[in-house]
Amino acid sequence: MTEERNWAGNLRYRAAALQRPRSVEELQEMVAAASKVRALGSRHSFNDIADTSGTLISLEDIDAGGTGIVVNSDARTVTVTGGLRYGALGEELERRGFALHNFASLPHISVAGAIATATHGSGDSNGNLASAVVGLDVVEANGELRTYSRADAPDFAGMVVSLGALGIIARVTLEIQPTFLVRQDVFENLPWTRVLENFDAVTSSAYSVSLFTDWRGEAASLAWLKSRVTDSAPAAGRSDFFGGTPALQGRHPLPGVSAVNCTEQLGVPGPWSDRLAHFRMAFTPSSGDELQTEYLVPRGHAVGAIEVMRSMSKQISPLLLVSEIRTMAADDLWLSANYGRDGIGLHLTWKPEQGAVERLLPLLEEKLAAFDARPHWGKLFHAEAAALEPLYPRFTDFKAMAERVDPEHKFRNAFLDRKVFGV
Ligand SMILES: Cc1cc2nc3c(=O)[nH]c(=O)nc-3n(C[C@H](O)[C@H](O)[C@H](O)COP(=O)(O)OP(=O)(O)OC[C@H]3O[C@@H](n4cnc5c(N)ncnc54)[C@H](O)[C@@H]3O)c2cc1C
Repeated sequence: MTEERNWAGNLRYRAAALQRPRSVEELQEMVAAASKVRALGSRHSFNDIADTSGTLISLEDIDAGGTGIVVNSDARTVTVTGGLRYGALGEELERRGFALHNFASLPHISVAGAIATATHGSGDSNGNLASAVVGLDVVEANGELRTYSRADAPDFAGMVVSLGALGIIARVTLEIQPTFLVRQDVFENLPWTRVLENFDAVTSSAYSVSLFTDWRGEAASLAWLKSRVTDSAPAAGRSDFFGGTPALQGRHPLPGVSAVNCTEQLGVPGPWSDRLAHFRMAFTPSSGDELQTEYLVPRGHAVGAIEVMRSMSKQISPLLLVSEIRTMAADDLWLSANYGRDGIGLHLTWKPEQGAVERLLPLLEEKLAAFDARPHWGKLFHAEAAALEPLYPRFTDFKAMAERVDPEHKFRNAFLDRKVFGV
């Protein structure tokens, strides 16, 4: 047994061993030799999605330090090793004058691990991080390395949010764009009445908007706006934002926690790579001692779903550190929580009380079922395959593809059995 744990420390991987290939060729040999195998990213998922009863493989030692970052400026793409962290990629792209369209709240996560679970940032027009993927180099069950591209692989849209079920992604190619500047403005205490009456205006006020709340009381505690400096940014510099007032010092999403871990705010422009994530690479993201859950609902249900969450504050708030509400654009990726619909994310950062959180999740999911809520694949949730399948129009196609590329179930694990294949 390996002694390895996930980032949150709530899970000890069951895997018998953890291997660290130093090259893609070594990775291919390891996969070919294994009977059960999974890739491990930066371990930021809160459930057993990455685990296996066989061998875990970390890609961190392949092109360590980001030496393998290949920019194609004509095609506007970058190709990276799957294990590379977004923070390292962002720094290098910025140095070369390029940018990604978005980051998650933290830059610490690996590219392949993030796209495998449809990890997202925020912004009405921003698809999740997987929506930038245009190419994949995948080590398949027999150890063969195969290259797929969005331009010509017929089922490419099914391969990107893979939950690790289709093989080990050795390299990922992402769309890039010219670098841009972003400023962050934070507003405090926005009355819910104003936010809910003007929800579309609130979330379209900047390139990316996040609302933070503990669901108690009559106001959302923070609105965190990330505006591209070149855009007309009507919200930036305002003295009133839907009843909220500008924060006069940097704010951490968690009440009372120092903002030293956060990217610079107070309207100071800086490169996208230092602003699009909430948390700074060299610091602990979020609280560090926590669990997370998130449900993605169609944008049209935003107000109704927020009202339901507010009505459950008595059950939610005692277990909660903070919640974040974000928006995302629709995509066509089969297992993406934003497949076919613009969405909002209702995110919950919980106190590390897993038993109590897991007892509450079925009730929360029952209440949000009316809104076709899809859970984030990398966080804690209750629903299993039978409940998840109707939420994703291409679920059956995904299962068929996984069966086709992995007939011996080398990449299957307990998570996939419960949540996807229903065995
Ligand atoms: C503090 C914190 C903040 C977070 N903020 C956000 C946020 O803002 N938005 C959001 O959407 N999520 C967020 N998350 C969740 C996180 O982004 C996801 O859980 C993400 O999948 C973690 O990536 P990872 O590299 O740690 O992958 P892991 O958790 O290690 O693995 C996740 C999955 O990816 C697979 N995988 C990893 N590498 C490969 C590979 N090379 N080939 C094939 N499959 C692979 C694994 O097998 C597993 O199935 C947050 C998590 C934490 C801890």
